[in-house]
Amino acid sequence: MHQVEKHIEFFKETLGVSYVLTDANDLQTFGRDWTTLFDACPTAVLLPANTDEVSRLLKYCHEHSLPVVPSGGRTGLAGGAVASQGEYVLSLSRMNKILSINTKAMYISVEAGVTTQMVQEEAARNGVFFALDLAAKGSSQIGGNISTNAGGLKLIRYGGMREQVLGLEVVLADGRVLDLNTPLRKNNTGYDLKHLFIGAEGTLGVITRATLKLMPQPRFFQSAILGVASVPHIMEIMSLSGQHGLQISAYEFFTDAAHKIVCQMHPQKRPLFTEAYPYYVLLEIENHQEDRSAFESFLGEVLEKGFAKDAVIAMSSREFKELWGYRELITESLASYGHVYKNDISVAVGELPAFLDDISPIMQEEGKNDITFILFGHVGDGNIHINYIAPKKGGSYKDFVIKAKAAEQRIFKVLQSYRGSVSAEHGIGLIKTADLKYSRTAEEIAIMQSIRRIFDPKDILNPGKIFKL
Ligand SMILES: Cc1cc2nc3c(=O)[nH]c(=O)nc-3n(C[C@H](O)[C@H](O)[C@H](O)COP(=O)(O)OP(=O)(O)OC[C@H]3O[C@@H](n4cnc5c(N)ncnc54)[C@H](O)[C@@H]3O)c2cc1C
Repeated sequence: MHQVEKHIEFFKETLGVSYVLTDANDLQTFGRDWTTLFDACPTAVLLPANTDEVSRLLKYCHEHSLPVVPSGGRTGLAGGAVASQGEYVLSLSRMNKILSINTKAMYISVEAGVTTQMVQEEAARNGVFFALDLAAKGSSQIGGNISTNAGGLKLIRYGGMREQVLGLEVVLADGRVLDLNTPLRKNNTGYDLKHLFIGAEGTLGVITRATLKLMPQPRFFQSAILGVASVPHIMEIMSLSGQHGLQISAYEFFTDAAHKIVCQMHPQKRPLFTEAYPYYVLLEIENHQEDRSAFESFLGEVLEKGFAKDAVIAMSSREFKELWGYRELITESLASYGHVYKNDISVAVGELPAFLDDISPIMQEEGKNDITFILFGHVGDGNIHINYIAPKKGGSYKDFVIKAKAAEQRIFKVLQSYRGSVSAEHGIGLIKTADLKYSRTAEEIAIMQSIRRIFDPKDILNPGKIFKL
């Protein structure tokens, strides 16, 4: 029997025939994430039902040196879940149970394949709150959120995914199960190994279970979108909110170009203001009691001082959702507009205005090469998504990416001088392996390689992702 057939036979015996997929459509679907730069070409898709099955699969793959791509909701934007070299995709989709929730000790225990939204909803049903939030929440999985250390919309208030994780269960490359899955809040007994797996993009182990922090449910949210003339004004507004004692739970921005594309792709979305402004800021305030006056007096001062030109305030939960739609629809609108190439960079928050000033001439010059730059993101965290876009009729995606990458190198050199990050939250995956050097020194990369060799000496877990061994 051919080697591959022998492997498939073993996987079918272990999981059951229905849970080993080799059909061309399934391979296409499970072989990629949201990125479109790489061809999907896995050998098979494996759908285990529990930790023991994951362990048996990995033990076998380790013994036979078979490459494995751990796969969550495949909403990743860095190519981390792409299988383009005949790998075996190990999808956590069937491991999607909420295991327990404890609203006194404030934690929830889940299998890694539950979606972010399922956890949010289970928390809400029990009167508490799970703080990670992102536009991909309906599909992204907790295992994927942990493996990318997702940032999301509420990082400014609650921190990113790392801050939500209390415990983890991880299956190592050779099939050993590492049980770090306790709800302990304090535990200073040597190295805290769970942190190595957070943000490891599936290169150190497969996360099978997690215990996550819960928070008290905020009772009242208020939000507004402001039309703003300059980046320094965006920073002034944020600092003024602190002076008013407001608890900001999201501070997002997008440019007028982003706003126009959302309105173009979603005709039900009317332009926010009669006049266009260069930037829009979406801010959300959370409160445990209803107090409109503090928010209104803050907005009054923002307008009076000229930090914003105009404001639209959500007066009901329907309007609240409506306003968030302008921000949350950007990624999807860009994808349906045409070719998109993405950067996900960060600098220290106070340095954003200077950084954007420094890259502005680059964007203007590169704009002459038929690239339009669309900026949006989590400005309150210093995290900007720089999207390079062009209409599809202008040429092939691969040619467009070559052009975009040339522009990107110029931007990354400026970023490096700010000691910024080439990936604030999406990860390095396959897309940014050559760019890791802009944010990490050779010594750091060498230490990361040594750690990876300890966990996965045969380099079977997501080979080639983040960096080569
Ligand atoms: C519309 C949209 C909005 C987004 N907004 C944000 C945002 O605001 N903030 C943000 O940070 N990201 C955002 N993202 C990116 C993406 O949603 C996140 O990176 C998310 O955490 C990925 O989760 P996933 O389950 O889809 O992971 P996948 O894409 O399936 O995988 C991501 C990485 O994790 C690994 N992995 C997956 N599951 C496991 C596991 N159980 N064990 C070990 N490794 C695993 C994969 O191998 C891969 O390297 C957005 C994406 C889209 C499409």
